[in-house]
Amino acid sequence: MRANPITPTIDYDREGIQHGFLRLPYSRNDSAWGAVMIPVTQFKHGEGPTALLSGGNHGDEYEGPTALFNFAARDRIDDIQGRIIIVPAMNYPAFQAGTRVSPIDSLNLNRIFPGRPDGSVTEVIADYFSRTLVPMADYVLDIHSGGKTLDFLPFAASHILDDKAQQQRCAAAARAFGAPYRLQMLEIDAAGLYDTQVESCGKVFVTTELGGGGTTSPDTVRIAKRGVDNFLIHAGILDGTVEAPERESLSLDMPDFRSFLFSEHTGLVEPCVALGDQVCEGQPMARIHSIERTALAPAVYRAPRDGLVIARHLPSRIQIGDCLFVIGEVV
Ligand code: CA
Repeated sequence: MRANPITPTIDYDREGIQHGFLRLPYSRNDSAWGAVMIPVTQFKHGEGPTALLSGGNHGDEYEGPTALFNFAARDRIDDIQGRIIIVPAMNYPAFQAGTRVSPIDSLNLNRIFPGRPDGSVTEVIADYFSRTLVPMADYVLDIHSGGKTLDFLPFAASHILDDKAQQQRCAAAARAFGAPYRLQMLEIDAAGLYDTQVESCGKVFVTTELGGGGTTSPDTVRIAKRGVDNFLIHAGILDGTVEAPERESLSLDMPDFRSFLFSEHTGLVEPCVALGDQVCEGQPMARIHSIERTALAPAVYRAPRDGLVIARHLPSRIQIGDCLFVIGEVV
């Protein structure tokens, strides 16, 4: 297979702290021999495991980039044993534009793994992670939030895997992250996810959803920053003890697809429940009003199962096919 065109300006084998870029050639009207310059930082101190930390897989999710730009700015390395590779904004063109998908090729980075070296910009980024960065790593953390159209309870998540020993290692790392909630996550469509790519390589992988709405809060940023430290301490790379959340994390499960409630209407959402509410099967969760005319009865959306409201749609206008709510079962 053809080599990936990305050139790192740092040396992954060199000891110490390095700040640089993943330089991806991108020839265009305003820059004939130009490049996408994706910031990268590496801490390497002696022998030990490698952690790969990323945010900005979707460009409108900010807890990851905020926590990782913070961590990358630290000047200490004597409390690190091993290697930490940090990419605060994986889909950098999307992050620059503040959009979920790339403005260059309209691709969603988290739906096209493993990517291709001879593809468009987003496909090349995916291929570089698949064939260069992930194989170097033992522990992989990818920090997500809801972006502009979803809002989540703050949770760290792992998946059900065929390899039960790996599943246990991933669940233990998600627990160590120390978010207020932790989830055994069911994906609507696991094909093409970074998660699936990393897990198929046998790595310890944790993902998160830490809020949303295309913004952050002091709370969600604190959870992300503490989670990064905790993840690295758990991996044995950073000195210290894992800092537990204020109250013990609540464990949630998504046993089947009844956890998802999708809208079959386009209109205006009147919520009947809030994020974090406990709901019972059959309970009204939202009414969706037609915006075409008055005096039409709203469509009532009822809870498909008992559980906790872990995600809700944003903003108040909704389109047919949008995810309206996600319900997690309390374990
Ligand atoms: Ca996301």
